[in-house]
Amino acid sequence: MTQARGRTEGSPARLGVPASPATLAAPVVQGGRILIVEDEPALLRALRINLRARGYDVATAPTGLEALAEAERQPPDAVLLDLGLPDLDGTEVIRRLRTWSTVPVIVLSGRAGPGDKIAALDAGADDYVTKPFSMEELLARLRAALRREERPAAGTTFTIGHCVVDLAAYTVTRVTDGVHVAAAADAVRLTPTEWRLLEMLLTAPGQLVSSDKLLNAVWGPGFERSTHYLRFHMARLRRKLEADPPRPRHLLTEPGMGYRYQP
Ligand code: CA
Repeated sequence: MTQARGRTEGSPARLGVPASPATLAAPVVQGGRILIVEDEPALLRALRINLRARGYDVATAPTGLEALAEAERQPPDAVLLDLGLPDLDGTEVIRRLRTWSTVPVIVLSGRAGPGDKIAALDAGADDYVTKPFSMEELLARLRAALRREERPAAGTTFTIGHCVVDLAAYTVTRVTDGVHVAAAADAVRLTPTEWRLLEMLLTAPGQLVSSDKLLNAVWGPGFERSTHYLRFHMARLRRKLEADPPRPRHLLTEPGMGYRYQP
């Protein structure tokens, strides 16, 4: 319904927000603190209204520096981040945030070029929505991002090449000559999206996990055809974890079907 209205960038109404009363009445009450970083007052207001109507605790920031300060003051559960900010570039905000936080970041951008998208994902963004977007799509992606943050149970570790992955602790350590290297310089840093993908695969050792299942679990409903997301993030995981990334031994692609963790 809101899809049809979300065609032209401009007023909140054209962006599909604020939502119709029917949408607001949907029995979906979410929790979590969301930091919205957006310098366009009308869009910021529309986002705030919609998120609050769904039970989110909302903080806002109109600049990159204020966003970083706010995130440090009270860490959010997810960040919605405009790329075109008056002070810092949004990509720089992500970079600075990633030096200490794995909070899910969904980029809201008027730029549509694939280069911008890749730069944002490379900097550590988890997802990307191009303006104008529908509020329903954004909310679905936000729910998916928050689901990814649910912690796995404490327990076993998994070995991939020279790396030991602890899903509960969110740590990856390199093993050199049988000795865990705990030094920060040798720690492997994964994004929240990479952690969620890895979790899905590692908790089903030896089994094929279909692309549909991965996309649905990590990005939410409606992303079953976005297999390029999977290729992008799986390639990054291999570069970080596999001893010989072009010839992976543990994070395997099953062409046309999905992926498999081979212990
Ligand atoms: Ca902007």
